[in-house]
Amino acid sequence: MKKIVAWKSLPEDVLAYLQQHVEVVPVDPARHDAFVAALREADGGIGASVKITPAMLEGATRLKALSTISVGFDQFDVADLTRRGIVLAHTPDVLTESTADTVFSLILASARRVVELAAWVKAGQWQHSIGPALFGVDVQGKTVGIVGLGRIGGAVARRAALGFNMQVLYTNRSANPEAEAAYGARRVELAELLATADFVCLQVPLTEETRHMIGAKELASMKKSAILINASRGAIVDENALIDALRNGTIHGAGLDVFEKEPLPADSPLLQMANVVALPHIGSATHETRHAMARNAAENLVAALAGTLTTNIVNREVLQR
Ligand code: NAP
Repeated sequence: MKKIVAWKSLPEDVLAYLQQHVEVVPVDPARHDAFVAALREADGGIGASVKITPAMLEGATRLKALSTISVGFDQFDVADLTRRGIVLAHTPDVLTESTADTVFSLILASARRVVELAAWVKAGQWQHSIGPALFGVDVQGKTVGIVGLGRIGGAVARRAALGFNMQVLYTNRSANPEAEAAYGARRVELAELLATADFVCLQVPLTEETRHMIGAKELASMKKSAILINASRGAIVDENALIDALRNGTIHGAGLDVFEKEPLPADSPLLQMANVVALPHIGSATHETRHAMARNAAENLVAALAGTLTTNIVNREVLQR
């Protein structure tokens, strides 16, 4: 029986499914040496939220497939996996809608000051009807700019256009004609999007091209009234530049699910700012979606090891070798 390493705990039924096909070796990724030793003995691996470096795969000559329980695959060096002949599988689609819900909850919470005002009520401060000092800003009818209109960006565009009567602008390297037809989305240069949008939503994958795509210059080109939403990866934004922009009133606020360092350090200035909504990377974190992702990743791994996987493959080139 083939052997796989699991570096994230799996739902019971998903584990049972895997065990019908392979021997599962659970590992604690915090015990680095034991993790690396287990990879050397394994045919496959499944997990999430841990960087898998080329050094960790030295000597892992049996390894044929890795399956990440996520759509993002920035924890892997894909070119290195391909060189080693290791298939990398991921879980697109199953998490699209719940992640778009998270994006929208950040938009609404930031614009309507939901988190700040809920804390204010709980602190017993609601003693009179509220005035303009506690008003928010509208979401409906405004302009959303989606940087990276793919699966999740498309689901955000649908909510924005059909649910909230918003105009949708987007940037991509290539056009998304479906979103243009269905939601009236208009493809523009990043500069125009930043200068025009009331809500700038980042939904690009983290790559060398997108790292720090939003820095001091880009933040300065946004409207003073604009809100930045990031539920992609923390490093898309230069976080120090964002902190300055929020402090100086360069932009109005931010709704953040992801950070350059996670968990966000307790001394981060972002935690002191009333105009920041900070979430603990909950994009896809519902019971239903996380279960579907684990199941999907397990099925991907079993099929990849059997040589029958045809979808959800990150490095398709490996199959052509
Ligand atoms: P996707 O369908 O591949 O969409 C990504 C979009 O970004 C595509 O439209 C792509 O279009 C665009 N893009 C890629 N590189 C770009 C570049 N250099 N400049 C401009 N646009 C670029 O991926 P998805 O399923 O929507 O997921 C997107 C990302 O969300 C994931 O990679 C992950 O990091 C993040 N995510 C976060 C959470 C969370 O928990 N917060 C949950 C799920 C996903 P072109 O190829 O035409 O450029």
